[in-house]
Amino acid sequence: MTRIEGVELHRVRLPLVRTMRTSSHSKDFLEHILVKLTASDGATGWGEIASPSGPFFSAETVASCWAVARDHLAPLARSVSWEHPAELAAVLARVRGNHFARAGFDMAAWALFASVRGVSLAAALGGTRTQVEVGVSLGIEPTVDELLAHAEQRVGEGYRRLKLKIAPGWDVEPVRAVRAAFPAVPLHVDANGAYTEDDGDVLVRLDGFGLLMIEQPFAPRALLAHAALQQRIDTPICLDESIEELDDLATALHLGALRILNIKVSRMGGLTAALAAHRRAFDAGLPIWCGGMYEFGIGRAASLAISALPGFTLPSDVSGSDKYYARDITTEPVVNTGGLVDVPAVPGLGREPDLEFLAAQTTDRLAIGAPR
Ligand code: MG
Repeated sequence: MTRIEGVELHRVRLPLVRTMRTSSHSKDFLEHILVKLTASDGATGWGEIASPSGPFFSAETVASCWAVARDHLAPLARSVSWEHPAELAAVLARVRGNHFARAGFDMAAWALFASVRGVSLAAALGGTRTQVEVGVSLGIEPTVDELLAHAEQRVGEGYRRLKLKIAPGWDVEPVRAVRAAFPAVPLHVDANGAYTEDDGDVLVRLDGFGLLMIEQPFAPRALLAHAALQQRIDTPICLDESIEELDDLATALHLGALRILNIKVSRMGGLTAALAAHRRAFDAGLPIWCGGMYEFGIGRAASLAISALPGFTLPSDVSGSDKYYARDITTEPVVNTGGLVDVPAVPGLGREPDLEFLAAQTTDRLAIGAPR
């Protein structure tokens, strides 16, 4: 049985290589919270709370995650003994919502679990792939020419799929330009819920570009609108923000609101939930891919591990660390080699924080409990 005695929270800031703009905001550095769990026998595991700073992707923020982790998740994590991380996840699920915050703890529990058993996290999850095909996400740029320059760079780096962020006013033209420049590259678009049902005609026009998928055109709760649009277009709709709980996936499947699932470990509340969503989507015959939240190396390693599962048949958004960070927080970055990233094969998570660099980048730190 494992019992968590010590919980450490590290609020860590990393500068981005370049400013990222989405339909709602722009940012030039990110702050995530690293979670270290220490068991009574001294075993440790690291996880990452990769919440955006503001409540624009979901309702969570770094500040809300910090408060929920300190006041609720840390006490819950220290209150029970468990044999399998799913047991701890069930206890943490007494906290409603707050998926990003819960994900950090669940990830750390899985990392600890795998390391104690001497197996890789991917193997502990049931993953079989040794390498993952990766694609890349391109933000909204000031001009189409700048977008094309970035697309050319990423295709040159071997990324297997391009994803374009779109929003009203930045959709048909950039898609047309990238499609014309790279006719053979798998291409998909992600609206992060920026459209309304009144914009249906624009989305139908995107149907003509042979896109791999249109991701999250409407607001997260608008499952009926997604189902209605899917009736009008051949391009598969992929859901991201809409699917926070397994029940959301069941409802969306029932309504025909998606044909592809984006699983994000953070959005779903951790690896335990991601594993259950994978099972459900796999059984329903849905292609799956792993999305990202600009994770540091800790969260990125967890995304790689879950991407090793058989249902992840589309390129994942687990690009190399260098796409976002000049220096990652881990001793070893995640490296993209021609569109492939190795799944860590060593016992545990497969990435450790660089403690000296971690201390230098930490803006707040809290230790709860006294690990031996
Ligand atoms: Mg998305």
